[in-house]
Amino acid sequence: MRVKGRTKWVYLFSEGSAKMVNLLGGKGANLAEMTGLKMPVPPGFVISTEGCTAYFESGGKLPDGMVRQVRKAMKEVEKAMSRRFGDPDDPLLVSVRSGARRSMPGMMETVLNVGLCTATIPGMIRQSGNERFVYDAYRRLITMYSDVVMEKAAGVEHKDEEMAVRPQLEKLMDAVKKEKGYKLDTELTAEDLKGLCEQYKVRVREVLGKGFPDDPWEQLWGGIGAVFQSWRGKRAIAYRQVEGIPEEWGTAVNVQTMVFGNMGNDSATGVAFTRDPATGDLHFYGEWLVNAQGEDVVAGIRTPNALNNYCKQPGLNDRLPSLEESMPDLYKQLVGIRNTLEAHYRDMQDIEFTIERGRLWMLQTRTGKRNGTAAIRMAVDMMEEGLIDEKAALLRVKPEQVDELLHPMLDPAAEKNARALARGLAAGPGGAIGKIVLSSERAHEQVGKGEKVILVRMETSPEDVKGMHAAQGILTARGGMTSHAALVARGWGKCCIVGCGELDIDYQARTVKADGQTLKEGDWISLNGTKGIVYEGKLSVVPADPEKNPWYKKLMEVADNTRRLGVRTNADRPIDAETAVRFGAEGIGLCRTEHMFFEGDRIVSMRKMILARSVEKRRKALDELLPLQREDFIGIFKALDGRPATIRFLDPPLHEFVPHDEPGQKEMAEAMGVSLQRIKEKVESLYEFNPMLGHRGCRLGITYPEITAMQARAVIEAAYEVKGAQAEIMIPLVGHVKELIHQKKIILEVFDQIKKEKKGQKAPEIKIGTMIEVPRGAVTADEIAAEAEFFSFGTNDLTQMGCGFSRDDAGKFLKEYVKLGIFEKDPFETLDREGVGELVRIAVEKGRKARPNLKLGICGEHGGDPRSIEFFHQVGLDYVSCSPFRVPIARLAAAQAALAGK
Ligand code: ADP
Ligand code: MG
Ligand code: MG
Repeated sequence: MRVKGRTKWVYLFSEGSAKMVNLLGGKGANLAEMTGLKMPVPPGFVISTEGCTAYFESGGKLPDGMVRQVRKAMKEVEKAMSRRFGDPDDPLLVSVRSGARRSMPGMMETVLNVGLCTATIPGMIRQSGNERFVYDAYRRLITMYSDVVMEKAAGVEHKDEEMAVRPQLEKLMDAVKKEKGYKLDTELTAEDLKGLCEQYKVRVREVLGKGFPDDPWEQLWGGIGAVFQSWRGKRAIAYRQVEGIPEEWGTAVNVQTMVFGNMGNDSATGVAFTRDPATGDLHFYGEWLVNAQGEDVVAGIRTPNALNNYCKQPGLNDRLPSLEESMPDLYKQLVGIRNTLEAHYRDMQDIEFTIERGRLWMLQTRTGKRNGTAAIRMAVDMMEEGLIDEKAALLRVKPEQVDELLHPMLDPAAEKNARALARGLAAGPGGAIGKIVLSSERAHEQVGKGEKVILVRMETSPEDVKGMHAAQGILTARGGMTSHAALVARGWGKCCIVGCGELDIDYQARTVKADGQTLKEGDWISLNGTKGIVYEGKLSVVPADPEKNPWYKKLMEVADNTRRLGVRTNADRPIDAETAVRFGAEGIGLCRTEHMFFEGDRIVSMRKMILARSVEKRRKALDELLPLQREDFIGIFKALDGRPATIRFLDPPLHEFVPHDEPGQKEMAEAMGVSLQRIKEKVESLYEFNPMLGHRGCRLGITYPEITAMQARAVIEAAYEVKGAQAEIMIPLVGHVKELIHQKKIILEVFDQIKKEKKGQKAPEIKIGTMIEVPRGAVTADEIAAEAEFFSFGTNDLTQMGCGFSRDDAGKFLKEYVKLGIFEKDPFETLDREGVGELVRIAVEKGRKARPNLKLGICGEHGGDPRSIEFFHQVGLDYVSCSPFRVPIARLAAAQAALAGK
């Protein structure tokens, strides 16, 4: 609470703790925590985030009492250091650092060496005995201060970026280096730097119309205001929008005693991670530079040395001495601090340290960022070390991070040296390399010849599926994360980049232009589908085999023991089912039977069926399909080895099975032995204004009961063949219980018939249920449950019909909806809980009331989305079903949902 005149704005490091992160910001809270742990932290204080809010409320002035509190805190720091801020004999210098609640790397400003001025320079030189060092520090102060405080925070803008103060000062330095024939900054002498500082001050006045302040306190107030101001800087605002950080949070300001890593060869600075952030290995990992200041390591001015042998990189720094070799005692002390920090925070920390004349100082610690592989390894290792419990281990890995382990990747080393051609949306993770091919047909053909291809299209449509399947990866110029290409690729776990607008594709010329380069069909490209980057050329790829990763296996084991939700997969082919089972699927939640009517010659029989003018003829055509479908189901039951399979009967409208172009129709007429006219009429008659709401789903089975009968026979006969087969027949698009009753009757009649035919044989277990995907079905779920043994929520259609959006057309406006916050997330990616979710909830309640042992699952795309999975857990479903490559993600998300409920 802020009370006028009495608010505490300023906290000494010794007064704070990590718990106070909201008030002190991440950096300040952790500096306070380390101080409390008796670690060597240069003394200082924090001006709270509330101070930032008050600063903006009072129109950019430091609020009441803050100035007094800062002066008082400074006295305490002076006491601890036995030095005074602004003292001409032995001056204390400070840094002014920003620090929001959540780290915003590089977004806000820091000013170092505050307190150096004409009056304090001589004392500083005497104390350090190093004139060069002092003028170097002064040069850095003038640069940072004029840039951050006098220019950026003051809102000064230049038409030409070269006219900004920083490049102007850099030019002066370059001129001196050139004149003296120096290559490195370190070659500048004390005299050079002293002269340069004078030139700097003149240039600052020329560029900004004001002199660089020569008073330490004026410098300090300016620095504090500038850090506050940087919270509203362009970069920070943009970053906050992306990361969803609220404006109200504000930033804290840390004022901290300067320590110097650039005081000679017994001084150094470095950054380190308490474990390897790339692999998760339990190895202290880091880089350092002798005789340097903090930002030098990050800025990459010099190649940094390795912290220890483990971090040496061949060809880069393996010949430079490690800290362990150069300063063994200090390294040991740092290792001690590393151990304390890990034991204390129970997580991998990212730290900054500085060594000033043989003395170690800690400047920062925070939870370190990591990739998926490392996240999993660290979570499991720490669990086994007893540092964290199972719950913490499970919560520490983001479900999406598991994804990284399941796909082959581009070799990161190769990526570093490759040329990026374009960027798009990372729709299918992993890496892929192949030759550019611009048509699905040719892609299929090329792969048949043993080539590796990347299918590059403006966008893809269902006709492209063959080529998409054949290709190593898919790249489209248009479309978003729910576009056809993205959806299909995700289902197969295929590397895919969509919406790559920079690509200029010419189907006629068979070229792709990007980044000023023209590539031809047949040229090699490489995709990083995890990041959405397209590279020129053929990069090397490293394979993924999660089963070989013991940490992954362990994490999944713990997840499986924790979750209540079952996890099944959406798979149409035995091979997909096998993959999914390998990834831990407990059955198939959705087996679409469409492709069983499409592949090879089947389409001919299917078209005969569609053209048939009598039931007899229709039956005959279906008889041709029966043995083929039966074989398909046998394959699936075998792959599942006793696990259940929910099989959905024919769903798409019939017009999807007939050709719409004249050559295709001619071909069909020839194959069928009928006139082109007749085909045209049929196609015409199948035309629908709104096929999504048209003649599809169970509406087909009701008007063509023979189709249902044939499919029932194929499933049941297959179940007779495979021991332990568990078939669940699912009727799609039911909105009225009588639809289900109609279909169920046909299936049961077929079953009875087969039982007679197979007298003496043990009948398999067959369940009959329905999809709940029409709102009417959801609200009459009690009536439907009286007839259905299970429900599976088809949340794609339920979202389409619940929201009244057609998914294929929603791309035109949904992005805008999400941007405006009308929907928080694309409802096709993350279930809309309040609306569509409510339909699910109603159906669950009504359904269970009518039939307590009703089995409930979900088979829409949402079944692989962690946030939606949380909802499905809460609402009490029995299982989720998702594409094979999302199964491990769903297993972890289901465990996390169970933990969240505890
Ligand atoms: P960022 O959050 O962008 O990393 P920091 O506030 O950590 O910004 O500061 C930038 C650099 O300045 C870091 O390398 C840090 O170690 C260094 N630095 C900050 N304060 C001090 C200090 N009191 N003494 C020495 N170096 C400092
Ligand atoms: Mg930092
Ligand atoms: Mg549907």
